[in-house]
Amino acid sequence: MNYDRILIRYGELSTKGKNRKVFIYKLRRNIKKVLRDFEQIEIEATRERMFILLNGEDGQEIVERLKGVFGIQSFSPAIKTDKEIENMKDAALSLFQRIYQEGNTFKITTKRSDKRYHLDTNGVNQLFGAHLLTNIPGLKVDVKKPDINLQIEIRHEAVYFSCENILGAGGLPVGSSGKGMLMLSGGIDSPVAGYLSMKRGVEIEAVHFYSPPFTSERSKQKVLDLSEKLANISGAVKLHIVPFTAIQQLIQQKVPENYSMTTTRRLMLKITDEIRKRNDGLAIITGESLGQVASQTLESMYAINDVTNTPILRPLITMDKNEIIDLAQMLDTFDISNRPFEDCCTVFVPASPKTKPKKEKVQYFESKIDFDTLITQAVEDTEVITIAPKSVEENEVSDLF
Ligand code: ATP
Ligand code: MG
Repeated sequence: MNYDRILIRYGELSTKGKNRKVFIYKLRRNIKKVLRDFEQIEIEATRERMFILLNGEDGQEIVERLKGVFGIQSFSPAIKTDKEIENMKDAALSLFQRIYQEGNTFKITTKRSDKRYHLDTNGVNQLFGAHLLTNIPGLKVDVKKPDINLQIEIRHEAVYFSCENILGAGGLPVGSSGKGMLMLSGGIDSPVAGYLSMKRGVEIEAVHFYSPPFTSERSKQKVLDLSEKLANISGAVKLHIVPFTAIQQLIQQKVPENYSMTTTRRLMLKITDEIRKRNDGLAIITGESLGQVASQTLESMYAINDVTNTPILRPLITMDKNEIIDLAQMLDTFDISNRPFEDCCTVFVPASPKTKPKKEKVQYFESKIDFDTLITQAVEDTEVITIAPKSVEENEVSDLF
C-alpha cells in the first residue's frame, strides 16, 4: 500500500473562529499555488488538519515544496483507512514494511480524537504493536529512541497511519496578516526583511526606486531576480518600479549635501506610502538594521520616519550583518544581491551624510523646494510587473492572484 495523502498540521493558530477561517483559507490557496503543476492533487481542509490527496502524483517532490510554505507546523505522508480492524492492520503493516530495515526498533503513538472508538490509545498501541511483532521477525520495541514511530490517528471520519513527521516552515500563511509594501533595493538586507515578514503572514508587494541612466538595466535585473526568489515562497509578487532620477537630481541641486541622503529617504518613504494607499497596503517594510549605516541611526530614522504614520516593519532591526547574511544564503538571494551593480542610493550618496540629522532642518530645506509635482509624476510613471515563481509559465500569471 502506498502513501495516498499528505497530512498537514497547522502552525500557530489563533483559536478565534474568524481568524482560523482566514488562516485555513489562505494556507490552502498558498499550497495550491506552489503545487499548481501537480494537476491530479486535491486539497481537503478541515478545522484541525489539511490533507493533500496525491491521486498518483509524486509525493517526494510535493514534500520538498511543502517545506517552504508558511503556516505549516509539520506534515506527514499518510495512508487513510476506515475503522475495520483488518483494513487497519493491513495498512499499518504495509506502511511499516516500506520503510523497515533490518535491526530497526519501533514504537507506536496513537491519538484518538474520536472518543467513541472502542479501544483507548493503550489498546490500539498493543493491538498494532502485536500485529507488527508477529509479522516482522526480529523487530524490537524501543519507546525512548525508536528508529520508526508509527503514528495512528483515530479521527471521527477515518483512521490515518504515518511514520514520518517532517518539520514545516512555521509562521503564518502568507496573506493572513494583510499586505505590506517591501522597499526592495538590490542589497542583501531588504529581501531578507521581505522573507521574514512573509513568515508572519504578510503579503508582499515590492517597491524599487531606480535612476536611469545612472543605474543600469543590469541593476534592475537584480531586483527582478530577487523578486522571483520571494515569489517562489509566496506564489507571486507584484513589483512597482519607481523612476527616481528627476527627484534625485533636484535633491542634488537644492538640498545641502549633508542632508541629501535624509531627504532622499524621506521622499522614497513618502512615495512608497502613496503606492501603499493605492494598493490597500497596511504597512511598509524595510531592511534597516540599527546603526548599520548613516541612514539607520536612531536620529536618522526619527527624521526620516517623520513623513508618515503608517506602521514601518523593520524585521532586521536588531540583527548583525552576519546573521542577515546567513538568512540571505538560506534564501538563496545572497549571490544575486552580491552582484556588483550600482543602486540609485549608492550613485547619489554624498561623501559624508549626516548621521544625526535634525528633523526641523530637513523639513526647512524641503519647504523651499517644490517636490510635489515630481512626486506625483513618479507615482504616475511607476511600472508594475507581476513576478511569478520559477515554475510558472508566463501565460498563467494572471491567475496567480
Ligand atoms: P539593502 O541591503 O537592503 O540594500 P542597505 O544596508 O544597503 O540595505 P540602505 O541602502 O541604507 O541599507 O537601505 C535601507 C533600506 O531602505 C533598504 O533595506 C530598503 O528597504 C530601502 N531601500 C534602499 N534603497 C532602495 C531602493 N533603491 N529601492 C527601494 N528601497 C530601497
Ligand atoms: Mg542598499
